[in-house]
Amino acid sequence: MERTGPAVDAAWFSHELCFWHDPGAGSGHVPVGPGVEPLRQDAVDPDLRRAEGLVRLSGVLDRFTLRTPVPATDEELLLVHTPEHVERIEASSAIGAGDAGIYAPVNHHSAAAAQLAVGACVQAVDDVLSGRHDRAYCVVRPPGHHAEPDRAMALCLYNNLAVAARTAQRAGAARVMIVDWDVHHGNGLQRVFWSDPDVLYVSVHQEGLFPPGAGLVTETGAGDGGGTTINVPLPAGSGHEAYLAAVERIVGPAARAFGPDLVLVAAGVDAGAHDPMGRMMATSRTFHAMTVAVCALADELCDGRIVLAHEGGYSAWYQPTLVLATACAVAGLPAPADPFLHSLEHLPGQRLRPHQERVLAFLESHLRLLTEGVGVR
Ligand SMILES: [Zn+2]
Repeated sequence: MERTGPAVDAAWFSHELCFWHDPGAGSGHVPVGPGVEPLRQDAVDPDLRRAEGLVRLSGVLDRFTLRTPVPATDEELLLVHTPEHVERIEASSAIGAGDAGIYAPVNHHSAAAAQLAVGACVQAVDDVLSGRHDRAYCVVRPPGHHAEPDRAMALCLYNNLAVAARTAQRAGAARVMIVDWDVHHGNGLQRVFWSDPDVLYVSVHQEGLFPPGAGLVTETGAGDGGGTTINVPLPAGSGHEAYLAAVERIVGPAARAFGPDLVLVAAGVDAGAHDPMGRMMATSRTFHAMTVAVCALADELCDGRIVLAHEGGYSAWYQPTLVLATACAVAGLPAPADPFLHSLEHLPGQRLRPHQERVLAFLESHLRLLTEGVGVR
């Protein structure tokens, strides 16, 4: 397999226990109850094992240094979360069932899996800051970007990347940029860093999807953090060109204005064209190209220091290919074969449409205003 760029030393973080966390029936897109004949519920977290399996089978996993995370410590979790929140996750998981917050079901393994998911991101950040590895990709669940300091939400128990960003700041990374292309808005990440001038949060998500009413272009941070939140709410149906335009025209210029010391990516793949939780049309080529683009930004701005962490991804059949595409880009490899691509890439929705262009043009025209408060170093 041919590399597209210079050799990259990339770390891969995963843990078997993350696949044992299973929010259970009714946790996904198929409700449980009257009017729905029971069927095999997609076990969204165990299904991530299929993604790792494909990356291994393709030989791409051999290009990574495999790292096994250790659980995040309470001290690390408390950089973002309240003690009551941590206790609630532990207690709910100890019972082995129930909701640890708002739509955040757990099983017996969830608390440990969540601690490992945070631990992976914390250690990945430590690895790239210390120069042990150039880049890292954390293929972990449960996801994190909806989790707020005091409540679990929408399958997210702890905010994996928020804790990682805080540990990066503690380790001396003055400025951290978080790019979030999960199809949902990362309300938890936005809330944690809302007033923090040293963390730039840019979310590219489906307009109005989840949480309802969240992620508006008018939400730009407050106080000293004014201008350090940028929301790119793309209309439902956005495809390859809209996503790449958002990265090229909004994420890139914002990153250059901000000047990060580290780039973190909430790299959910639920903007994929087959995902039942979103209505977007991204393909493996989209995720590969976006990942290449943010890695290039990190190369340009902060000696290549970048950590990607999996978030959402709910298509049992397409998620593995999208994770593989992301992995190929992280490893500096070309986009992989995609058996689904022939049925997706010719669709008219893959082109940038006028109503999507209007959102990008509006944000572009306001970008200078948005980043004025951010300050160029
Ligand atoms: Zn999501």
